[in-house]
Amino acid sequence: MHLASGRVDGREELWWMTEDGPLRVGYIAGLQDRADTVWTMTRYLRDPKAPALLQKWLEWAHAHGIKSDRLPDQILAPVPHPGKILCVGLNYRPHAHESQMEIPSYPVLFNKYGNSVVGSNTPVHPPRDAQELDYEAELVVVMGRRATQVGEAEALQYVAGYCNGNDLSARDLQFRTNQWLLGKTADGFGPMGPYLVTADEIADPDALDIVCRRDGVEVQHSNTRNMIFSCRYLIHYISRYMTLEPGDVIFTGTPEGVIFGKSEAERQWLQTGEQVSVSVEGLGELVTPIGSWQ
Ligand code: ZN
Repeated sequence: MHLASGRVDGREELWWMTEDGPLRVGYIAGLQDRADTVWTMTRYLRDPKAPALLQKWLEWAHAHGIKSDRLPDQILAPVPHPGKILCVGLNYRPHAHESQMEIPSYPVLFNKYGNSVVGSNTPVHPPRDAQELDYEAELVVVMGRRATQVGEAEALQYVAGYCNGNDLSARDLQFRTNQWLLGKTADGFGPMGPYLVTADEIADPDALDIVCRRDGVEVQHSNTRNMIFSCRYLIHYISRYMTLEPGDVIFTGTPEGVIFGKSEAERQWLQTGEQVSVSVEGLGELVTPIGSWQ
């Protein structure tokens, strides 16, 4: 399933994104004579029965040719209210090289906060003194079950699904101090979307093409098989130290091709009016317009 969060009449709801367009989950729940028709991503992720139930409803709706009663007024990030937002730095060797940093022996972990979360096609308005704005195309893992000290072999059983992410980074703020946080979690610096692809549709998250385009021009192109630490390993490693909960997300790192990786003379930081898109194989396209500075 492709599941998108959206807003309708100021309210957050859940839609299937189908070939015929968005289909509101709550509408189909009502047609199934369910009294409780309010469906959000938070509810979906916390209810272990939800994936099978929604799959059944979707097939029913498809078999009956049912069209949605309402379309979203606005598409949000598929997980609009993540718990933890964990990020992995330097997880592709060529990116570590272009950043002139050492190949890490352990995953380099940092974080973003909820203020950074926006959906596809939502303009980002960077803070005024963040001049060195850069893109980072990433595969995002969305947790679907509580995970504590899970083994690598079973780690993917704890995943609800995957989406595109852009770990937008202001390099001047990132390197102002030796903690990267400030340059990583300004408002809107964590675009995700356009929808969540459920884990059953992704045979191997550690073998997906990943592409970033800047105004249509390809600037990053790799495959998640090139990650130093795989999705499986990251879940295993992180869950040794902190319990992962449904709705926690992991930005798994970016490949080479970021602006920061170029020589100083060649660096052309993102500007107002440009558009960055991230496409991981099978996950659609996350579009981020760069808005005015504020
Ligand atoms: Zn990153």
